[in-house]
Amino acid sequence: MARYTGSVCRLCRRETMKLYLKGDRCYSDKCAVERRNYPPGQHGQGRGKLSNYGTQLREKQRIRRIYGLGEKQFRDYFKEADRQKGVTGTNFLVLLERRLDNTVYRLGFANSRAEARQLVRHDHFRVNGKKANIPSILLRPGDKISVAESSRQIGAINDSLEALPRRGLPPWLDLDKAAYEGVFKILPTREEMNLPVQEQLVVEFYSK
Ligand code: SF4
Repeated sequence: MARYTGSVCRLCRRETMKLYLKGDRCYSDKCAVERRNYPPGQHGQGRGKLSNYGTQLREKQRIRRIYGLGEKQFRDYFKEADRQKGVTGTNFLVLLERRLDNTVYRLGFANSRAEARQLVRHDHFRVNGKKANIPSILLRPGDKISVAESSRQIGAINDSLEALPRRGLPPWLDLDKAAYEGVFKILPTREEMNLPVQEQLVVEFYSK
């Protein structure tokens, strides 16, 4: 599937919720959802009640857009979550949270997941001291993520670290800001992930 290259704020408006795709702007009053909290387009304000299927589809799209994944990759995570023991919806979110690009964002080394993905691809990070330039690497408890020594002066990384207190560090991660290092301590619980989504609707969507 082709990657979406249009306005990301439009995606938030389509989902009628903040997906936090634009870093700083998302926390300002310039946020498009704050200004116009209805779907874009000519019929944006006139859409009626969603069907069951429509509700499930929208929730699936919301989560997929939060993590910035293509449909195939997203569905593959679901299949993997379904194979694992435990609650499929929670397994699914945990898999998404374990991605390296997501963790780089959560640790505050990037302002958005899209920026994190680009920084990872450009080889600015190490996992357990080894080169790691694939955004989809799945981290395990105990893995150490660090900024490559030659990349510690990059403005985008330092600016993002300064802005981290605004969104906070999740409890399953540790950060040593001075050392440009973080640890993926444990797998997060559903409560800790604190995501305003209903993953059960995605399970229902893909289980048809
Ligand atoms: Fe979404 Fe951020 Fe744009 Fe607001 S500013 S609509 S949260 S991407």
